[in-house]
Amino acid sequence: MPLLVLATRNAHKVAEMQTMLAGVPVTLVGAGDFPNAPEPEETGATFAENARIKAVAVARATGEYALADDSGICIDALGGRPGVFSARWAGAGSGANEWIAKTLAELNGVPDEKRTARYVAALAVAAPNGAIVAESEGVFEGRIALAPRGAGGFGYDPIFLPAPEFDRTAAEMPPDEKHERSHRGVAVRRILPALHTLFPRDTL
Ligand code: IMP
Repeated sequence: MPLLVLATRNAHKVAEMQTMLAGVPVTLVGAGDFPNAPEPEETGATFAENARIKAVAVARATGEYALADDSGICIDALGGRPGVFSARWAGAGSGANEWIAKTLAELNGVPDEKRTARYVAALAVAAPNGAIVAESEGVFEGRIALAPRGAGGFGYDPIFLPAPEFDRTAAEMPPDEKHERSHRGVAVRRILPALHTLFPRDTL
């Protein structure tokens, strides 16, 4: 089977993608399996641009097809911030507790109906020559809660209340349900037809 290199060294993301792409006849490996695979700076202004930057860099360096994702949360009352800066929102090296505290502080006094937000995930596939051959995007609509709740998920999940119910945070959802509805789940399902065309099943 052809290789598809996932442009991340995060073993959790590799495992998640292996599950979601199980029906595609490729061997999915993490960039960590290639010592020379670069970790390019995410200098793009959009999630799609960052996904393209990562996919192209890893495809060129490894000589294989590469799949990259980029994601984050956009909060309407903050003019779309933190957006592509979601992982750097409270300074370099900051983590989920700091991102959540900063978000809640910036939204102090903002009423429920104005706390709308969305997670966005962009995917890009680059061919070994660096050409982008597939792209997709998924969105997960919701609102920012008044206080964190729930122990599941990661990142901003304890303060993200998915629409249209707004009654549980993403950190209170069973993982299967989150994958079913999430920005990343939607983006993966949208890119599947292109992957099946790129990597057709051997019909012999
Ligand atoms: P990336 O790994 O460069 O795509 O950065 C993703 C950023 O967005 C991190 O700060 C994550 O915490 C946040 N993020 C993306 N997707 C999710 C999600 O499903 N739940 C919680 N946080 C997310």
